Amino acid sequence: MVAYIGEIEKKYHKKGDAFFTAWIIKREYKREELCQSELLYVQIGKVFEPAGEECGTLYDESNACIRCGVGRTQMNALTLDLKQIKMHVDIAKTIAGEVIVSSQFKQAWEDAKLSGAVFSDVYQKGRKPTLVDTWYQLQIDSQPLEIISPTIAGTDPFNFEDAERYVCDKHVLGLNLISEITVSRNSWNSGDMLTTKQAFGWKQGLLMPERPLILSQNAWDCLCNAEIKGYSVEVVHMK
Ligand SMILES: [Zn+2]
Repeated sequence: MVAYIGEIEKKYHKKGDAFFTAWIIKREYKREELCQSELLYVQIGKVFEPAGEECGTLYDESNACIRCGVGRTQMNALTLDLKQIKMHVDIAKTIAGEVIVSSQFKQAWEDAKLSGAVFSDVYQKGRKPTLVDTWYQLQIDSQPLEIISPTIAGTDPFNFEDAERYVCDKHVLGLNLISEITVSRNSWNSGDMLTTKQAFGWKQGLLMPERPLILSQNAWDCLCNAEIKGYSVEVVHMK
């Protein structure tokens, strides 16, 4: 069925038209499949704006890749308009990929003595930005995982757009992650909060390439027990 949609889209695309204009890949797993996966890819449900740089967060772009945008350096504490979150979640990210977690998330992580995450101060934007004690910026200090084949990246599930345009040999595999993620087992040094060496996405205005957020099975179990909300997980394959 999916291949058939691809054929129809191809015909439309040749005429400069589109059969579909948006797509979301949803993978459903049995609880046992998730419980047996040593690593899990975190999909954050709440994505909000404005981005940090619209609220007073400063970035030094002088070391960023001129092709894809990866590698800018954050120069001050993350400053956001947290009022835009408007729902009860324990994890959220901006359209620029800045990830924040609630104080409950931080507490659960620290109580379980999990590794790989650093929680930094977050400020509420304003004439004088104010430090908040309800949110923290999530940063990762574990060794990055290496994404390997058969992971597929592309512009869309059928790759009709110019997929190569969004590949940076040094940093970015493609505009979007299309398949499940497979990582090299040798690249995992047992950290509980991880990201990958390679990113997906492209610098377009405020949008930046992002690296997937990955949890160990133990970390996921602890977050579930602490009733941490606002994300779903997918299986990560390792070989
Ligand atoms: Zn690059």
